[in-house]
Amino acid sequence: MPRLTIGCHLSTTGGYAKMGETVTSIGATTFAFFTRNPRGGNAKALDLDDMAVLRTYMAEQGFGKLVAHAPYTMNLCSAKPDVVDFARRAMAGDLERMESLPGNYYNFHPGNHVKQGADKGIELICEALDEVIESGQATTVLLETMAGKGTEVGRSFEELERILEGCKKGDELGVCLDTCHVWDAGYDVREDLDGVLDEFDRVIGLGRLKALHLNDSKNPRGSHKDRHEKIGKGHLGMDAFAAVVTNPRICELPMILETPNELEGYAAEIAQLRALAGEEA
Ligand code: FE
Ligand code: FE
Ligand code: ZN
Repeated sequence: MPRLTIGCHLSTTGGYAKMGETVTSIGATTFAFFTRNPRGGNAKALDLDDMAVLRTYMAEQGFGKLVAHAPYTMNLCSAKPDVVDFARRAMAGDLERMESLPGNYYNFHPGNHVKQGADKGIELICEALDEVIESGQATTVLLETMAGKGTEVGRSFEELERILEGCKKGDELGVCLDTCHVWDAGYDVREDLDGVLDEFDRVIGLGRLKALHLNDSKNPRGSHKDRHEKIGKGHLGMDAFAAVVTNPRICELPMILETPNELEGYAAEIAQLRALAGEEA
């Protein structure tokens, strides 16, 4: 079995090089970070030297691909044109910055259609992606599978597929599967992971699956709540994660923990998941 590419969400406060060191200190081999303030939207000035240090360090340490996360406030399918405009500019700016960390992933929540309906939402998302994504860019943009809270778009594999199909730049897009979100959306990743992957393959194609968010869920299947729980402590339970990290179809993908933890808790979850995958401590 190869080593898992696993990590967690990290704060950008100390800069890029610092995040690299933190990754090593918790036994991780990838990480996620917000490209800008997750609830506001401001981005820090680019520190190219700092990013260069991280690039070198990642290569030396053999990190897997990073999975950057767009801010939650970015809604490409809002009913308000100024919100859509901001979202497009934020994503374009993020992708430009990501060119300084080439070859990684940029994950985003497709959006909330508010009361416009999923069809309109999907249309607006496709329009935005076609405008923002540059052919040949060094970053693969990933749509995240959503829990279906409120008017979220991306609550089913079918909705994600319609975005991939409807977007001219669709070939440059991938999907990030969040275990809490798909469970809350109704997919039984606890009892039937392979059945869910078959379904993903049938509707979207497993070749599009590029990364995983590993989260347990505070709620029963189909609850559409989106409340993350620590690994093994929620409705999914530890056996479900043992199945994920040993499933040959997905065990080599970058896995990001977004569980309610501090660094120590993440380090413990990473060690536990590595043990479940059969890695030597
Ligand atoms: Fe997310
Ligand atoms: Fe997630
Ligand atoms: Zn979530």
